[in-house]
Amino acid sequence: LLEINGVTKRYGTLEVISNLSLSVDEHEVICLIGPSGCGKSTLLRCINRLEEISLGEIRIHGDRITGPGVDLDRLRRDIGIVFQGYNLFPHMTVLENTTLAPLKVVGMSRREARDKAMAFLERIGLAHKAGDYPDRLSGGQQQRVAIVRALMMDPMLLLLDEITSALDPELVAEVLDIVRDLAARGMTMMLATHEMGFAREVADRICFLQSGTVYEQGPPAEIFGNPKGERTEAFLRSLK
Ligand code: ATP
Ligand code: MG
Repeated sequence: LLEINGVTKRYGTLEVISNLSLSVDEHEVICLIGPSGCGKSTLLRCINRLEEISLGEIRIHGDRITGPGVDLDRLRRDIGIVFQGYNLFPHMTVLENTTLAPLKVVGMSRREARDKAMAFLERIGLAHKAGDYPDRLSGGQQQRVAIVRALMMDPMLLLLDEITSALDPELVAEVLDIVRDLAARGMTMMLATHEMGFAREVADRICFLQSGTVYEQGPPAEIFGNPKGERTEAFLRSLK
């Protein structure tokens, strides 16, 4: 589904992603792990073109999505992204937040958008909050709504960047439950996380990034149980 071919990203002279290649199959859940600053967020942001890459290319279903002439609205419908916090518009209710893009970008009817949003909110147990403003919701609830907002566009790929790291520990579980549920439903996801327990449980494949390249990748059992690379081992050991 996704192919990242020889991507380099520089900020001025600082090379943040270095000739990185990675492909993601349909229905696969990939977790990016690695030390702070290794380029996880930058990579996710490059995939939905919030950042421009310096070299290489990225393809979705064979179509190049980097370089000129790409319809960015379309791209961002196909690839949803959720960040670590502050995702919702504070002056809009939950329902307004989740239906904004479908109404504005794809011209869905008000009724259809509403029904779809309510169905998703129902699924995550927040239908009763539809009329509330974000400040009336807990951090975990807000983050779940942010995921619903991304799902409203039926993305073929969902990028999740540290979606639990701004949350109190007791709220983390409810957000992870949603990710687990999406994985079970076959959503293709690429997530950056510092939660190794979660990565181990939800990921089909773990990619350990080091200095902007994929240093080692493999199934969770292998990466966490028996990492081959010295740096992977050292990183995982440092977390214990
Ligand atoms: P963390 O685990 O802390 O979230 P990360 O792996 O997501 O880290 P990135 O946010 O991708 O790391 O950052 C990679 C590097 O790029 C860092 O050295 C960071 O300082 C640098 N960087 C990120 N954004 C910019 C920017 N807009 N301008 C200059 N440098 C940047
Ligand atoms: Mg990051």
